Amino acid sequence: MSHLRSPFHVVALLAATAVLAACGPTASVARPHTIGVAAGFYPLAYAAAQIGAGHVTVHDLGRPGVDAHDIDLTPQDMVTVSQARVVFYEKAFQPAVDAAVAAQASTRGFDVAPSADLTLVDAGGEGVNGHFWLDPVRFAGVAEAMGAELARVDPANASAYAANTARFVDRLHAIDRAFTTGLASCASRDLVTGHGAWSYFAMRFHLTARAIAGLSPEAEPDAQTLGTLTAYVRDHHIRTVFAEPLTSPALTDTLAQETGARVATLDPAEGLSAASLGTTYEEIMRNDLDALRAGLSCR
Ligand SMILES: [Zn+2]
Repeated sequence: MSHLRSPFHVVALLAATAVLAACGPTASVARPHTIGVAAGFYPLAYAAAQIGAGHVTVHDLGRPGVDAHDIDLTPQDMVTVSQARVVFYEKAFQPAVDAAVAAQASTRGFDVAPSADLTLVDAGGEGVNGHFWLDPVRFAGVAEAMGAELARVDPANASAYAANTARFVDRLHAIDRAFTTGLASCASRDLVTGHGAWSYFAMRFHLTARAIAGLSPEAEPDAQTLGTLTAYVRDHHIRTVFAEPLTSPALTDTLAQETGARVATLDPAEGLSAASLGTTYEEIMRNDLDALRAGLSCR
């Protein structure tokens, strides 16, 4: 039997390499004639790749299968941060990235928080909610700021960044319209999710978001909080509670068992993994809309 790879294997290998390049440390190998850009977590890396297409090599500091809040950076990540022309990050969202920018890229870090319109402060004392990207309009504001920053550091390609930004922003607004239409008429507007990623999303689309964990998936609730949430699900006759691909389903399962609700998956697109509801932010958002329309009984 020949050891030559079949065309299928070659295609599969190329596809696997593309996935790794999109979300893994191998993306730090810069292509010729591109500038190196680092991003603190997946939605920022995705935006940088859309806006910089052909002109940037994006290194996502996020790890497949690890939620964005809890990443630790490797020595190789620190080298990447020190060499990147821009490090897109969100101050106070990922402590490890804040520290790396302060130590290695204090003049090249670009904090997206000011352009994200972060208006929500967690009542539990966890600080400002940073999950702007699930609101496509907030994400569009961040994309425009990122496009302007890329044009500033690489003026030779400014027109390409402007055109790519405009196209990406148009697609984000199309996602916004799809959610506005798709969630216009639902039997329930109560969204119970794994962690507090959905607050801006809920504001945009007139839903009420309650999270089982806190702003970070690690912030697990105490028994009293879980009891309050159980009563909330019962009182509001909530029939579906949503788990996340990167979060342990144990608490969601407990809540479902206590209340008779069923569990569906909603993906906050914070990081990619084999369990993600899609391979890109935009695909995940489309699948989230389907999951929401089913879970909230939308017409
Ligand atoms: Zn989060």
